[in-house]
Amino acid sequence: MSYPRTHAEALDESDPLAHFRERFFIPDGVIYLDGNSLGALPQQTKTRIEQVVQEEWGSQLIQSWNTAGWIDLPTRIGAKIAKLIGANADEVVVTDSTSINLFKVLASALKQNAARRVIVTEKENFPTDLYIAQGLIDLLGHDYELRWVSRGEIESTIDERTAVVMLTHVNYRNGRVLDMDAITKRAHEKGALTIWDLSHSVGAMSVDLNRANADFAVGCGYKYLNGGPGAPAFVFVAKRHHEDFSQPLTGWLGHAQPFAFDWQYTPAEGIARAMCGTPPVLSLSALECGVDLFLEADINALREKSLRLTDLFIALVQPICKKHQLELITPTEQAQRGSQVSLTHARGYPIIRALIARGVIGDFRAPNILRFGFAPLYLRFVDVWDAAYALGEILESGDWRRDVFDQKEKVT
Ligand SMILES: *Cc1c(COP(=O)(O)O)cnc(C)c1O
Repeated sequence: MSYPRTHAEALDESDPLAHFRERFFIPDGVIYLDGNSLGALPQQTKTRIEQVVQEEWGSQLIQSWNTAGWIDLPTRIGAKIAKLIGANADEVVVTDSTSINLFKVLASALKQNAARRVIVTEKENFPTDLYIAQGLIDLLGHDYELRWVSRGEIESTIDERTAVVMLTHVNYRNGRVLDMDAITKRAHEKGALTIWDLSHSVGAMSVDLNRANADFAVGCGYKYLNGGPGAPAFVFVAKRHHEDFSQPLTGWLGHAQPFAFDWQYTPAEGIARAMCGTPPVLSLSALECGVDLFLEADINALREKSLRLTDLFIALVQPICKKHQLELITPTEQAQRGSQVSLTHARGYPIIRALIARGVIGDFRAPNILRFGFAPLYLRFVDVWDAAYALGEILESGDWRRDVFDQKEKVT
């Protein structure tokens, strides 16, 4: 190993965020490097969910919409997430899933830029983002075009025909960060609108939507934000677009007065018009606990720790990569990296399964990516060391070649 384990122990001792680990349930014997896919369970969430179920739903029943403030959960949590992404409190709401929110903002952006027909995106964007754009184009008519280009071609592809630039800030495959400020600037110079998917950035690094002058953004609640499996997502609409924001999923919760039970749809003022139907109260209550932890932590300290964690992992696995035909596809340059490290190997799947069997949980992304996420709120430097050590051992011993590790599960 390129560093002794005592090096990692020393980094833990001087880690100003170390105490946050106690605020989570982390099973014994598990090194969890998948917080970028499903965040860990905060201690508070369990208590809070029991309370919501028993005291609010169980005792107060329907009155809880008012007495427990259920109806305000989407905007209340939205205002908290706003602090993590450089937005104003009234520009973010929590509702539906990332996919659905993307559909809403993309539809509105195309309508707002109605003379143009091209959506520019990155080839390696998360598939649901591409699928949603394809579905919307199918609905709108085929003169719309989705242009997916490689990362290096994004800026030069944006031109006077571009209606919307739709991108994910941190790539889910290789962990590479796109330059939000520069791309947004370029898009605006050409008269295009921007949509940023923050699913792999929020809670792992500082994001400043308003500094970048971003138009729209969406992001996931169950990854670094630790909101729980299938947690609702958030949507950001810059204030300057609120009046023109017009999304097609015009459900009653996005109405100006849902309880007037009017026959005619009139959109709510502001960000509330991004909502559609009834908020999932249990899921929102869980998400709020996850988000609250981030408000206690300094986001710059989080980013710094995240970079140190990934730096250490990269340093430790590089010699292993060389010896065992793995390739590092995450940038070694800090500014270009999110909070994950990805390696490729022709037999990536059984290697990941063998690691999981040893309690080191990462994931596999087709066709050949071994992906390791580093959630700075609850990971220790010794976890990084132990994970790299386990990877080296598995490859050295050939343990991963056992047949059991080759059987594909439904979810990888
Ligand atoms: C995880 C993720 C999603 C997930 O969307 P869902 O609607 O919650 O399934 C979307 N986009 C990106 C970039 C993601 O990483």
